[in-house]
Amino acid sequence: MDLLKFILVGFGLFFGVAIVGAIFYSIIDGKRLASLSPEQRAEEMAKRLKAKEAMDLEVADWRFKETYGVMVPAVICPHCAVQGHVSKKETTKITKNRVNSIPGRMVGLGTNSETQVTKMHCMNCTMDWEV
Ligand SMILES: [Zn+2]
Repeated sequence: MDLLKFILVGFGLFFGVAIVGAIFYSIIDGKRLASLSPEQRAEEMAKRLKAKEAMDLEVADWRFKETYGVMVPAVICPHCAVQGHVSKKETTKITKNRVNSIPGRMVGLGTNSETQVTKMHCMNCTMDWEV
């Protein structure tokens, strides 16, 4: 019970400090922005927007790589026959063995087989296939 209280108080303090910090930061930042000339303010906002866009782009890039891997411009899609929209990603495909039951595992038959496959994806027709 004491541990639970301790954890709850800890979390409360942590979020409390975080929220108060964020409020203080926004006040200080607002004052700083207000003290700038309109040109400087516009410059500052443009700089921030650029930084945010760069960040968003990085996140989007990372998510794309996680989902589709890398683009392979030379590949022609076998489904829609359009070139330059295909991506590939090396992945492991786990095939569950039929004998993956408790008795099967006991006699060493129940191993899932892992195969390295390359997942292809076409951005044009949204088809997925493996090679
Ligand atoms: Zn296609």
